[in-house]
Amino acid sequence: MFPRLSHKLTLAMVLVSAFTILVASLFIDRAMDKQFEAFVEGAQEQLNWQIVEAVRELYEQRGDRASLEEQLQLLGAASNVEIVVSPGEGHHAMMGRGMMGRGSMGMGRRTMGELILPDGTAATIEVTPTADLERQAREEAFRQAVNGSILIAAVFSVGSALFVSTLFFWRLTKPLQQLMGMVRKVGQGYLTERAALRGRDEIGFLGREFNQMAANLEQQERLRVKLTNDMAHELRTPLASIQAYLEGMGDGVVEPNQDNLTLVLEETQRLGELLESLQDLAKLERPMLKQESVDLTEVLGALVRPLRILAEEKNLKLQWESPAEGLYTFGDRDMLATAIRNVISNAIKYTPPGGLVTIDLGIDGSQVKVEISDTGVGIAAQELPFIFERFYRTDGSRSRATGGTGIGLAVTAEVIKGHGGHVEVRSEPGTGSTFTIYLPKIKCEERGL
Ligand code: ADP
Repeated sequence: MFPRLSHKLTLAMVLVSAFTILVASLFIDRAMDKQFEAFVEGAQEQLNWQIVEAVRELYEQRGDRASLEEQLQLLGAASNVEIVVSPGEGHHAMMGRGMMGRGSMGMGRRTMGELILPDGTAATIEVTPTADLERQAREEAFRQAVNGSILIAAVFSVGSALFVSTLFFWRLTKPLQQLMGMVRKVGQGYLTERAALRGRDEIGFLGREFNQMAANLEQQERLRVKLTNDMAHELRTPLASIQAYLEGMGDGVVEPNQDNLTLVLEETQRLGELLESLQDLAKLERPMLKQESVDLTEVLGALVRPLRILAEEKNLKLQWESPAEGLYTFGDRDMLATAIRNVISNAIKYTPPGGLVTIDLGIDGSQVKVEISDTGVGIAAQELPFIFERFYRTDGSRSRATGGTGIGLAVTAEVIKGHGGHVEVRSEPGTGSTFTIYLPKIKCEERGL
């Protein structure tokens, strides 16, 4: 089992949240240290000033020296500070001191105040905080409480990152896994498989594109099978006929005279025709490599010359008036010529002698329009939807006289579609048909002229 995408993504999310918490806790720790120090110092300063005030009050009560000293001792011990009252020259200093802690004296900042003694002389009061075990313990407890909270936040954050990302990425990757299964199946040739992915996000879009691709493959495969069957069927008839004639001649049952040999020759010509049509079909399978601006006026001019000879041989009139200017589309000139030639050849083929074939080239909005009309046999309405299918021939044209392979119009439709155009047909049996080819028109400036 390969590492799943959802596992990788979940791991990434967990790492990101753990890293975020780590960085945040480092910053909190630093900020906390600073703020806590400032807060404690501020509070100590305030306490010191309160002690200075208390000492002043003690001196105002004018007690004796012993009781004053005792009071200072008590005050110092209660407040964990060292109090030194230093009168001027000739007087003894008095002192009160709180409990000495682990550290040395002078843990905090010293505060100095002034005092006027009863005899009118000035003295200074010095208050210096001593190491305070209780304060240290409180500080430690505070730090531990904050660290505990950070730890709980970390566990909660990593846990929720794990939960949310597992859920989210599972939902995200589940359709991908489904799609993977489908891709594998389609790759194995099960072309009818479809992904049931909905949604308007990229994955839903991918699912729809995949289904479209599978449908195209299925359609191609169906066409391939049909084409192979049709080809076998089409090749079998003339081949069987040639075989029968040759066997008959070999057995002496059929005379190898001019007529019979002509019949065999016609069948071989039909085989040649079929192979040519198949070559046209094969051309469609490869991408149209040539992409150039194609002047349809010029293409039609070149096509009409040999086709006019063919029409005249059949005693048909071929009418074509070249437009004064070039009308351009974009694509493969040879393929476009083949597509148009097939339609004109059909018009000549399916129009009885004395008839008329008209070719008209013009503009219809943003498209170039090639209209080929004939006064021929026409096509029955029920057959119209099928004439562009490969190997389709209407019943009336299955005779040997008209020949035909049923591939010409299929090639035309596919080439024109490949060039962004389409073909329309109107027909009335006994009156004639009109095939109209529409192709995107390009302007001079788009041709870089
Ligand atoms: P084919 O080689 O048989 O002409 P196509 O694919 O060119 O094959 O045409 C398919 C069928 O459409 C033809 O067999 C014919 O029956 C019918 N068809 C095409 N063009 C015309 C037309 N101009 N008039 C009457 N029938 C036509």
